[in-house]
Amino acid sequence: MKYYSTRDKSIRMESAEAIKMGLSRDGGLLTPEAIPQIDEAFLQSLVNVSYQERTAKVMSLYLTDYSYEELLTFAKNAYGPDKYDTDAVAPVRTVDDKTHSLELWHGPTSAFKDMALQMLPQLLSSALRKTGEDKTACILVATSGDTGKGALEGFADVPQTKIMVFYPKDGVSVVQETQMVTQEGENVGVCAVVGNFDDAQNGVKRIFSDVEMRETLAQRGYFLSSANSINWGRIQPQVVYYISAYCDLLKAGKIAMGDKVNFCVPTGNFGDILAAYYAKRMGLPVGMLICASNSNDVLTDFLRTGVYDRNRPFHTTMSPSMDILISSNLERLLFHMSGENDAEVRGYMAALSSEGKYEVSDAIRAKLAEEFWGGFCGEADTAATIADYYKNHGYLIDTHTAVAANVMEQYRKESGDENVTVFVSTASPYKFCDHVLAAIGEAPAGDGLELLDQLTAVSGVTIPRRLAALKGKQRRFDLTSEKMEMESVVLDFLQ
Ligand SMILES: *Cc1c(COP(=O)(O)O)cnc(C)c1O
Repeated sequence: MKYYSTRDKSIRMESAEAIKMGLSRDGGLLTPEAIPQIDEAFLQSLVNVSYQERTAKVMSLYLTDYSYEELLTFAKNAYGPDKYDTDAVAPVRTVDDKTHSLELWHGPTSAFKDMALQMLPQLLSSALRKTGEDKTACILVATSGDTGKGALEGFADVPQTKIMVFYPKDGVSVVQETQMVTQEGENVGVCAVVGNFDDAQNGVKRIFSDVEMRETLAQRGYFLSSANSINWGRIQPQVVYYISAYCDLLKAGKIAMGDKVNFCVPTGNFGDILAAYYAKRMGLPVGMLICASNSNDVLTDFLRTGVYDRNRPFHTTMSPSMDILISSNLERLLFHMSGENDAEVRGYMAALSSEGKYEVSDAIRAKLAEEFWGGFCGEADTAATIADYYKNHGYLIDTHTAVAANVMEQYRKESGDENVTVFVSTASPYKFCDHVLAAIGEAPAGDGLELLDQLTAVSGVTIPRRLAALKGKQRRFDLTSEKMEMESVVLDFLQ
């Protein structure tokens, strides 16, 4: 199967090339030419196999230039017992008969980014071999927290790759910073930037578009690449867990084959929920896709009115991984909903970049309303939902998951829809101890790693092993850079 650009369908390539490039050179997103179809027999064949086999079976439908055995090996490396604290990898937890939670945070960094970032480095490393690339890929990442650690953990000691992560000096939580600066691996680098996330992000973008820099690095045997969620190699592993969740519900007798299941996804860059859309288009019996936002409700407005307008205040919330005003992966959805019309997508994206805003056609708006329902949840309601789940269901959830659980209820009230619904749980509550403690009525005693102990003492829920181990870990990186000096950090790193 070939992949082509959402802005120019004449740009076509194999999946290995698409994964290596990340973004198409015309600025479009590389997208599969056709969506593979699955049937009941296929789903049945997945019910009694491991998560790793489910991954290889689903991904080999898309990545036709990778072999099944190769994908199975990657999946075993990505989701093995040394990485994941449960054999189920992405377990479905039942809240009540009609409500389930898909837990995606049992991996090494305790956030759902691991599901994709444990696979992407292997897909990329293999893509370098398949395309005969002799240079080393250097991954540059600007992070507001979760992506940086996820990428470090995924790329550590992967052959023919190096990774450098920039994070805002005072813009990440204590747990997140400790996770990054203690990272092991010979090919990794971590640097704090004096400034905020935008400063770090702008610095990385500046380096990517610096022609001179690119030439210098090429002479040294490197090319720059990205682990951002626009890379198809990140979307692809995420399709698997929606199909896997359906199989688990079948196996547990919670649904019958063919029953429709709704998914409610806490959304930022639109990668996770886009993967659910692909699963539905493949033939998985999915009802409504519920798109949950925090106070940054640009997607809620878009799904309700057909107008995407990023000209609005940016809110810093307790669910920071969803604090986003430009949801990059939405471009792939527009492409499919326009009937793969690259000219139409180009028009929307040009308007977004010049005016920060576009309005989709009536045809797309009608299709959106059939497949998606959008809602948002503010800060007080997020905290109240954490308290509600803790007190009434004995279930401790994080701030991002709480947004999804809340919006799911809003949808049920408005629609009366009684389908079984799965909300997606994207992070361990231990990544956001301060907000979770406050939500369940405990005053956080401190602002560092001691909050892990406080939360476990209060809740009785076990601290994820890798987070508990942070306390004894050696700090390996102490580098700080002014925002205009990130170039020299990269040049020093890639000697
Ligand atoms: C990244 C992230 C999200 C948002 O996912 P998108 O694919 O960007 O929509 C939600 N929750 C957590 C914890 C995340 O890290």
